[in-house]
Amino acid sequence: MTFQDVQALDLNDPLADRKKQFSLPADCIYLDGNSLGALPIRAKNRTREVIEQQWGQDLIKSWNTHHWIDLPAQTGEKIASLIGAAAGQVICCDSISVNLFKLLCSALNMQKGRTVVLSQQDNFPTDLYMVQGLAELLGQQQCELRLQGGDNIVEALTADVAVLLLTQVNFRTGYMHDMQLITQLAHQQGILVIWDLAHSAGALPIELDKCEVDFAVGCGYKYLNGGPGAPAFVYVAERHQAIAKQPLSGWMGHAKPFDFSPQYQPGQGMLRFLCGTPSIVSMSVLDAALEVFDGVDMCVVRDKSCKLAQLYIGLVAQAHLTNKLTLISPLRNEDRGSQVSYTHVHAFAICQALIARNIICDFRAPDVLRVGFTPLYTSYVDIWNAVEHLQDIVHNEIYHETKYNQLNKVT
Ligand SMILES: *Cc1c(COP(=O)(O)O)cnc(C)c1O
Repeated sequence: MTFQDVQALDLNDPLADRKKQFSLPADCIYLDGNSLGALPIRAKNRTREVIEQQWGQDLIKSWNTHHWIDLPAQTGEKIASLIGAAAGQVICCDSISVNLFKLLCSALNMQKGRTVVLSQQDNFPTDLYMVQGLAELLGQQQCELRLQGGDNIVEALTADVAVLLLTQVNFRTGYMHDMQLITQLAHQQGILVIWDLAHSAGALPIELDKCEVDFAVGCGYKYLNGGPGAPAFVYVAERHQAIAKQPLSGWMGHAKPFDFSPQYQPGQGMLRFLCGTPSIVSMSVLDAALEVFDGVDMCVVRDKSCKLAQLYIGLVAQAHLTNKLTLISPLRNEDRGSQVSYTHVHAFAICQALIARNIICDFRAPDVLRVGFTPLYTSYVDIWNAVEHLQDIVHNEIYHETKYNQLNKVT
């Protein structure tokens, strides 16, 4: 593979033009859209409008005149179109952690006589922490976390499990589960499934309805580019909505919040999954950011993501780095999300050295160097350039420099 070959890939890239819709710093190679998506230009414009006009001038009238009150549902529908969900099943609100709490309660409540929540040892910690917190609140008689350690989750799908809580794409390795197959096998055992789409929504095609998924949550600030701390989303299959109850029964989830009745009564459909007042500024940013997906076919995004990943893996090998870096991501496209990870004892310092050269990727404890592919703004030449620097840093052991070994609060 030569530099010219890589340039040719960019010339033939149907998504090459989308990068113009983002406000990225010059000379920055951004390979961390899986942690914090880049800033879409229209999100910037919308923020200005929401702050200056809607809040600044129109003040409280904006709840009606600018439809702030409908924003969670409106933004939810935009997300729905990216994850294979028909209308009326997705709402935007809160964080993944909070939304998981709601869904875990809903699902457990629907499963009389079963108490086990099955997840994986290497799931993203907050998902496990939320189950642990709930188990403490309800007691082991009503909620018990069971962790499966190996790769084969299918073997752990037994008839005593109430809820299966899985993240579609593993945050460290990028391993991707077969959503359709696992959901189907879980249902055969009477298990309800909650999918966490943090590392898949906006990165690859998802077919929640087609896979007959029960519940899902996902992240607004990763591949959906909604900005730091952007609200998350919840999906509840229509067939469960009438019976699904959630305990964070705040006034925004009430059937008639402005009746100010002392008695809680859940709202219609997804509205009952709201809790308190939505963060309008943040949600407006996400709502605007989602428009960068207008007219984009997620299969085209996926195709480019796989090609970027294969190019990265190929170039790392070509640079003779495979005896120093160990690939922990699956080689087959079908088994991998939109990231590639290698381990190295000095992964943290390697990552810092790359960042110092304006190549932004990230480190995940204990020893993972993770590179995320965001086809809307990552080019093939970006990958070429990133590997050139990686090669220099690893072969010349530049990571030993003290300045690359100082820990920050956030890694
Ligand atoms: C990023 C991420 C989260 C984030 O949770 P928040 O509560 O929204 O901060 C949760 N789960 C997974 C799998 C993630 O990757």
